[in-house]
Amino acid sequence: MSLEKLGWNEYFQSLWDARSPDDARIFRVTEEHRGRYKLAGEHGDVWAEISGRLRHEAFRGDSLPGVGDWVAASQHGDGDIAIIVDILDRRTALVRQTAGKRTDAQLVAANVDLVFVVTSCNEDFNPRRIERYMALVWEAGADVAIVLNKADLVDDAQPLIDELEQVAIAVPIIAVSAVSGRGFDELASYLAPTKTIAFVGSSGVGKSTLVNWLAGRETMAVGEIREDDDRGRHTTTHRQLIPLNDDGGHGRGVLIDTPGMRELQLWGDGEGLSHSFGDIEELARHCRFRDCAHTSEPGCAVNAAVIEGELSEERLAAFRKLEREQHWMENRRDASFKQAQRQLSKRIRRWQDLKSRLDGKPPTTPKG
Ligand code: GDP
Ligand code: ZN
Repeated sequence: MSLEKLGWNEYFQSLWDARSPDDARIFRVTEEHRGRYKLAGEHGDVWAEISGRLRHEAFRGDSLPGVGDWVAASQHGDGDIAIIVDILDRRTALVRQTAGKRTDAQLVAANVDLVFVVTSCNEDFNPRRIERYMALVWEAGADVAIVLNKADLVDDAQPLIDELEQVAIAVPIIAVSAVSGRGFDELASYLAPTKTIAFVGSSGVGKSTLVNWLAGRETMAVGEIREDDDRGRHTTTHRQLIPLNDDGGHGRGVLIDTPGMRELQLWGDGEGLSHSFGDIEELARHCRFRDCAHTSEPGCAVNAAVIEGELSEERLAAFRKLEREQHWMENRRDASFKQAQRQLSKRIRRWQDLKSRLDGKPPTTPKG
């Protein structure tokens, strides 16, 4: 398969050209299974592991390769496991805080141009959750569109679209149904050669069904491929990158299906937050005080908008909740960074002591 069909473009070519030449070849990560990677390249698919050096240098969960990454891998014999020696700099990275208690970043998908945030017209419908997904996508640096699936389950999808419009200002909202065929052409109009589109959303909203629909073949098993993860819960384990074929040589683009993200926590510097709550940021610029917390300050434009019914209380509350979560994450991240720094300086001191013992000098006295 040509690299172009996998999403390769001039941007990645320039990164590749800047790399010092070795025997490694370029591949894109299409699947990840606990430390094993499935790669696709010009000469077909290979299984790979990462080099000891990459593993050693990885300081965060998202320093390791993930689906969508372009990697340099070397392979010695045919049928051998390839070794990933480099990850090309990501153009975009969809990153979330890992599920569970540990503070770490987890890569959901790399080098994605557009993200379809999928929700459905039934019990999953929740504008607050969509806000969180959008913040995650802005943070990634990718474009976003909302896909409201299972439109066949309601008589009229318009009230739901109206509700989404309140939270997704200037973001396309596409109502579709894989059952009735509604919205297919509109969805397909987002495909383009070398463009990578990822699907995110809770499990069961129909992501795999929509991927199959666009791919025009049964690529992903729909529903029910479940396996116990390491906490004994059931999770859908597929996570795939699917190049779409066309009759010409360029392909129709690339789709990435991601497993449902139940525990969705933000990871990033908050830029995504202000992007998805641009209306609140805009109002806040008219507050009398620059550091207005929009609680009971005089001249607060945000509260005035709530009183006048221009801004819903729920939206302001959702903004506050995300903002608190962001601050909390930042503090936790600072704490783990400081701990890493302390450990490092301890190691440096031990090493200096060892060195002075070898040199026959007295040991350094630790400060503090
Ligand atoms: P995923 O977990 O998000 O990948 O969801 P799946 O694609 O596995 O779909 C979950 C279920 O929803 C399956 O039983 C699908 O057949 C069903 N489904 C998908 N799209 C539609 C739709 O447009 N309408 C209806 N009624 N059901 C759908
Ligand atoms: Zn204010």
